[in-house]
Amino acid sequence: MRVLVVEDDTKVAGAVRAGLAGEGYEVAVSRTGEDGYFRATTEPFDAILLDLGLPGRDGIEILSGLRRRGFAVPVLVLTARDAVEDRVRGLDAGADDYLVKPFAFAELLARLRVMLRRGRPEDALRLRVADLDVDPVTRSVTRGGVAVDLTTREFELLEYLLRHLGQIVSREMLAREVWEEPSRGTPLDNVIDVHIARLRKKVDAGTGPRLIHTVRGVGFLVREGDA
Ligand code: CA
Repeated sequence: MRVLVVEDDTKVAGAVRAGLAGEGYEVAVSRTGEDGYFRATTEPFDAILLDLGLPGRDGIEILSGLRRRGFAVPVLVLTARDAVEDRVRGLDAGADDYLVKPFAFAELLARLRVMLRRGRPEDALRLRVADLDVDPVTRSVTRGGVAVDLTTREFELLEYLLRHLGQIVSREMLAREVWEEPSRGTPLDNVIDVHIARLRKKVDAGTGPRLIHTVRGVGFLVREGDA
């Protein structure tokens, strides 16, 4: 079991790391919000212990970002402030549970165990719709159990569409988020359309339901069934 601890307080982080390691967990510690967010989105973890008060990007921002991008990894929020608003904000942002500092290590362990039992850690990072399965960590894609070979850009495009499952994604969004161009234009629109067409050929050409839909004049939508 791999646990990511995002905590800027060296003493707390050290104690939690030692305690969890003693219980057989594999522990990674991030001391800043940026590092925590980066690791949480690029490495597989079974659970995250997330301090709310962090320098830079705070815990709520990290949590909302993860949930917005579809990461379902169980998150236990640690808060130094026993303020009701903090707990509510944490739960609203998608926390599975919270613990108020200072806490007894035994309580942390108990909460973590409950969370891990509830969660499906092996699925936390995977993206799925119908029989399409995308693993952002290994960057592998299968449709109906058959491997689909994508270029890097095609993969990024598919991942972005899947993270917005059931939502319309505009060409502006794709230009900005996938191609990282500040503004879209006709040439880029054409590039996007070519990539969508190729992606369709590779992902949607079989006998399964069509997943990538065009919403005329608006953008694209991934969902099972008609748009
Ligand atoms: Ca802190």
